[in-house]
Amino acid sequence: MNGIAIIGGGIGGLVTALCFEKLGIPFKVYERAVALKHVGAGIWLSPNALQVIEWIDPKLLKEIEGAGNYFDRIMVANHQLIPLSDSDQAFVKHKFGYTTIAIHRGVLQRIIYSYLPKEKIILGKEFKKYEKTSDTSYRIEFEDGTSVETNTIIGADGVNSKVRGQLFPNSSIRYSGQTCWRGVADYKLDPKFASVGFTLWGKKLQFGVSKLNEEQTYWFAVKLSEPNQEDEREKLKVALNEMFSAFHPVVNELIQHTRVSNIIRGDLSDLELLDKWHVENICLIGDAAHSMTPDLGQGGAQAIEDAYYLSNFINSSKCIEDAFHRFHSSRKTKVEKLVKQSRFASKIAITNRPVEILRNFVLRNTPERFMQSQMIELYTIDKSVAALVG
Ligand SMILES: Cc1cc2nc3c(=O)[nH]c(=O)nc-3n(C[C@H](O)[C@H](O)[C@H](O)COP(=O)(O)OP(=O)(O)OC[C@H]3O[C@@H](n4cnc5c(N)ncnc54)[C@H](O)[C@@H]3O)c2cc1C
Repeated sequence: MNGIAIIGGGIGGLVTALCFEKLGIPFKVYERAVALKHVGAGIWLSPNALQVIEWIDPKLLKEIEGAGNYFDRIMVANHQLIPLSDSDQAFVKHKFGYTTIAIHRGVLQRIIYSYLPKEKIILGKEFKKYEKTSDTSYRIEFEDGTSVETNTIIGADGVNSKVRGQLFPNSSIRYSGQTCWRGVADYKLDPKFASVGFTLWGKKLQFGVSKLNEEQTYWFAVKLSEPNQEDEREKLKVALNEMFSAFHPVVNELIQHTRVSNIIRGDLSDLELLDKWHVENICLIGDAAHSMTPDLGQGGAQAIEDAYYLSNFINSSKCIEDAFHRFHSSRKTKVEKLVKQSRFASKIAITNRPVEILRNFVLRNTPERFMQSQMIELYTIDKSVAALVG
């Protein structure tokens, strides 16, 4: 046997591998990409994710900190950068020791990968299907015609998960009605914005910004759209500049300073809530189990939390099914709330005029203490699960 088979080497799969490695749980990761390239735009890693990273290895956290950029504030503003809410993150730092960090996804993936034994990460293996071969074993077949035997499968293969497709054929992905461009600009952000993660909400448009490092700034642009639309690449920057022409000039500066090859587009969806994430010795994690729209910047952080809880429950349970049951029971409430809140946030971020006025009024008048208690709750992880012994 090959230990636990983790299908997918994205954030969830690789962080689960790190957790298994720390706890001495045998595993192999099977990732369809033939190489882990320096791809993607930026990602915001919130303190719940950073606590897991620190638990895995404080050196890993230091390396991520060195490659990313911490926020002092998280701000939502109108299209002209006039704040609707501006949250000083000092209380988060005081409570957890750090705030949210923005980092290039490719850099994050490279750092995580460098902490893993390469012989346990099998690239170029696209999961096709599994077959139960006995009470305690499965054969996994890959698209290249090869197969492996295992007694446990973790589906960490993202929102379009094939593992989920086989396990729960009736699951369905919901298109949010919005499409998103993500870019990394070769642009030094004005120092007054260097420690702010901010989003500008305009009329049916949204634009987010954060400094990644001294040379690069990450941005994302969201608009309402039919699904599966394609860009004319050579006209893309002009189209985006036109789309955001009413916005604060920093938006056009950022688009202008981004190479077209550094802009990626994707439609935004989430996964209809599943009743279960596991059957027998097969379990889903991350986007495969509970993909959410990116509006709260929590999908990756929740995949990282999954890695932490799942690995510790496996480490302290009598059998794998028991571990999966404890994992789902402990994660379900938080994750389902976030899927719903993210979807709600996606609707109010991009809305029409009357709702916009009401939304802005509510945002401006939400008590600071309420916002803070919500963030503390979101960022808290249960440290006691790491102390459980089987
Ligand atoms: C626009 C946008 C912005 C976002 N911003 C943030 C943010 O700031 N903070 C945050 O926390 N989250 C953010 N998210 C969410 C985050 O990207 C996801 O939640 C996260 O990547 C989920 O990790 P995962 O490992 O579950 O899935 P993925 O990251 O999708 O990884 C799945 C992996 O499985 C592999 N795979 C797929 N199919 C197969 C197969 N058949 N066989 C083998 N391998 C396979 C893929 O190649 C991939 O490597 C954002 C999402 C979007 C769309």
